[in-house]
Amino acid sequence: MPLLRLTALSLLLSLTLVLPARAVTLLRDPDIEYALRNLATPVLQAAGLSPARVDILLIDDSNLNAFVIDSDTIFIHSGLLLRMETPAMLQSVIAHEAAHIANGHLMRRPINARNARTAAALGTALAAAAGAATGNGQFAVGAAAGLQGAAIRSFFSHTRAEENAADASGLRFLAVAGIDLRGAVQVMELFRGQEALSLGRQDAYARTHPLSRDRFRRISQLAEAQSTAVPPDPEAMYWFARAKSKLSAFQRSPKWTLTRAGEYAYEDVRLMRQAIAYHRQTDLRRALAAIDGAVARRPDDPYLHELRGQILMESRQIKPAVAAYARAANLAPRNALILGSYGRALLADGQVQKAAQFLETARARDGRDPRILRDLAQANAKLGNNGMASVLTAERYAMAGQLKDAKVHAERASALLPRGSAAWQRAQDVLFAAEAEEKRRK
Ligand SMILES: [Zn+2]
Repeated sequence: MPLLRLTALSLLLSLTLVLPARAVTLLRDPDIEYALRNLATPVLQAAGLSPARVDILLIDDSNLNAFVIDSDTIFIHSGLLLRMETPAMLQSVIAHEAAHIANGHLMRRPINARNARTAAALGTALAAAAGAATGNGQFAVGAAAGLQGAAIRSFFSHTRAEENAADASGLRFLAVAGIDLRGAVQVMELFRGQEALSLGRQDAYARTHPLSRDRFRRISQLAEAQSTAVPPDPEAMYWFARAKSKLSAFQRSPKWTLTRAGEYAYEDVRLMRQAIAYHRQTDLRRALAAIDGAVARRPDDPYLHELRGQILMESRQIKPAVAAYARAANLAPRNALILGSYGRALLADGQVQKAAQFLETARARDGRDPRILRDLAQANAKLGNNGMASVLTAERYAMAGQLKDAKVHAERASALLPRGSAAWQRAQDVLFAAEAEEKRRK
């Protein structure tokens, strides 16, 4: 799962100017996303933002970074989440990014005129973000916005004034939400000393959020002024442990996970970690015993049933997987990712019509999961809906930043779908993005 280490990658990019934009992989996990939403909610409320409107999405990247590209998504790199030691640290990162949204810092950016909800817009925006983060902004950002020179460099970095404002607002949000401000100081400490490193060795977060001595001092002073020590919220502690544990169980070696399975005081989290580690060692018997133990402790937790479904599905136990996902979908009937997993299992079980139904509901609720796009395309192809299959494939390529391939499928979709229909319009969105990219390359 972990991608290339960024240091090696940056070196590679600096040697070659014209490279395809780096693929940006979203890590869509319903459990982790629920946990992040839970942790973000008090912060977003304090910022005057609607927690229902702002998503926290994880990007599969070990380099530390967090950023916003539109006003309804905060992106966090998986590497950053793994480095956070307390919920307050993570919440301080979210608070800072929420402040960029709440303070209107995105308004001056051309790409934010359109939001990144569509697959094509999201794909180009993420490719742009990746390019900016690796210092290869000229290439990728141009793809998104056709910009040049200094405008490109300032695309994802904020001005010093904006950074100061975001720090101040972010700390205010944390204080209002009753979150320990020392989390923010600890995050700053994590990046201390990075200024001395060459650009290629700095974490992207340090590059896009320059840490001056002034900035550090200001944040420390504000944190010290918080009169009493704030006790951590038990709910936040639990979901923080769970998100970090699940992510690390999939990204670190099973051996590493098994050694540390009990590091938090939650029995179900320990069992979940063991379940994932055993599953990755293809020990289905032990994996099931562990996940069943976790489910027994939290029988109405849809995400544990979803994980049980994943373990069964990846072990080719299709019928039991369908049953586990059905239970999860029953417990979380509006969760797009869970509906998508259920649809995937139904498709594997040959229940194509029913699979297409669940996958389409999942896509309509959240079109940013490439697996849902892939599976729904497959279901549509099996049902003979070739136009639909093509537009979904086009969107999946666009989301991965592969606009040339996306264009081929979008053209096919355009020709097959009723002109003016919603699906036809989605094909036009992809064509628009692909043509903008072509123009830029000329
Ligand atoms: Zn910032």
